[in-house]
Amino acid sequence: MRCLRSMRQNALAIPIHLTLEHFSIMPRTYLIRSIGALLLVVSALIGPAQAAEEVKQVRLYALDCGRVQLKDMGMFSDTGEYDGKAVVMVDPCWIVRHPKGTLLWDTGLGDKMADNKGGVDFDLGHMQVDVTLLDQLKTIGLTPDDITYLSLSHTHFDHTGNANEFPGATWILSKAEIAWAETNPSPSVNLDSFSAYRIAKTEMIDGDYDVFGDGTVRILRTPGHTPGHQSLLVKLKKAGTVIISGDLFHLRDNYRYRRVPPFNVERADTLASIDRIGTILKNTKGRLVVHHDPLDFKALPAFPKYLD
Ligand SMILES: [Zn+2]
Ligand SMILES: [Zn+2]
Repeated sequence: MRCLRSMRQNALAIPIHLTLEHFSIMPRTYLIRSIGALLLVVSALIGPAQAAEEVKQVRLYALDCGRVQLKDMGMFSDTGEYDGKAVVMVDPCWIVRHPKGTLLWDTGLGDKMADNKGGVDFDLGHMQVDVTLLDQLKTIGLTPDDITYLSLSHTHFDHTGNANEFPGATWILSKAEIAWAETNPSPSVNLDSFSAYRIAKTEMIDGDYDVFGDGTVRILRTPGHTPGHQSLLVKLKKAGTVIISGDLFHLRDNYRYRRVPPFNVERADTLASIDRIGTILKNTKGRLVVHHDPLDFKALPAFPKYLD
């Protein structure tokens, strides 16, 4: 499948703006060769999926990977402000396209849930997936084989749902997070949902990580929610610096008022991570996108539009 991808990219490099009028003034052998080349282009273009256009600068896409309704959002602050209030949260997946490859950041609730049209109830509320990640990737000409890197903010089930669809990607994983997930059984972690990391090519990291080596897409270590929790910083030409929070914040007010969920693994680490991200946002005049916050999601260009 890798070969197919490079073939498509090569094919796209051949100029396809030539019309038949151009061909009519060409020598016969060149004409035949040109038509042959054109047929190759056409067959590559009508292959299994429409090839993604090549990108010259970094793009950030926000994909709908489900939503979660909770009867009581008290679990998101250990100081009581949310107690007894219901909430609807989004659960996006993020695609970063870079001239050197494509990163999938967080993988949502999982496409399997879309089989249950009305969603599924659980003891705390309701979860639903209306559109699949794979269909959305198709919309922008991507197949799972086109995902160069996969990385997760952390291993809670609402971020790992589709991970196993990408065994061909290089998985960039936090050592501390995987060690914790493997040794601390939790109802919030479904090891089976990301078991493909055992067979995939992996890059195990223990701090910040520059995904494409040019500073435009950086994974930032932000522990506290879980031991290996990380956030994503994307530097865009027009939109500037954007930080996707992961679950460092569940709602914008968690950032605004420094609220910490009682189920976080370490309160002090969470506050230190909040300080770090706050300072980076100030220094870069950056934009914070709180992963689960519906208003932050709505404020982004509606897929397949993107930030660049
Ligand atoms: Zn979480
Ligand atoms: Zn989450």
